[in-house]
Amino acid sequence: NEFVKEEFSRGALRTKTVEDILTPLKECFMLPSTAVLDFGTMSEIMQSGYTRVPVYEEERSNIVEILYVKDLALVDPDDCTPMSTITKFYNHPLHFVFNDTKLDAMLEEFKKGNSHLAIVQKVNNEGEGDPFYEVLGLVTLEDVIEEIIKSE
Ligand code: ATP
Ligand code: ATP
Repeated sequence: NEFVKEEFSRGALRTKTVEDILTPLKECFMLPSTAVLDFGTMSEIMQSGYTRVPVYEEERSNIVEILYVKDLALVDPDDCTPMSTITKFYNHPLHFVFNDTKLDAMLEEFKKGNSHLAIVQKVNNEGEGDPFYEVLGLVTLEDVIEEIIKSE
């Protein structure tokens, strides 16, 4: 029975993809790169409850930077610091993965890297124009672990 359970959970990790478990882009809490870290913005970030906030330029599908809540520790809201000042200073790497990445491979990536969040993209070659990368959403270590727990 233990063996069956173990095989089942391994199976789910082997067959499911990040696309199956991601948080869709439209549900992501993100901020524009033009944001100003005043009292209002900083309150909004705190109230979101998220530790990592993708930062986009022009469109939400164009994620260019990532803000960690801990980056705000030395920011005084009265200074109205531009978002880009902080994101450029810390310059956390962005981690992209393709939509068909299997969960076992994703778990290995998360274990290796120091980032526990990845942005999921796919190659969109529907339609007339040239294929382009389309951002679908984000996936975190937490999402993968939840999948492991679910299948136990
Ligand atoms: P931590 O647990 O390290 O404090 P967190 O609570 O911000 O971080 P996770 O625990 O990694 O985030 O993820 C919890 C859920 O929230 C996951 O489903 C993940 O996809 C989602 N998530 C993480 N960041 C965001 C965000 N900025 N906007 C929307 N959903 C997010
Ligand atoms: P996050 O990844 O959410 O930013 P973090 O890096 O502070 O948080 P974790 O990723 O939860 O911490 O843990 C990483 C490792 O650091 C773990 O081995 C944990 O036990 C250890 N750790 C966490 N906080 C402390 C602390 N204050 N002092 C010493 N070790 C800590």
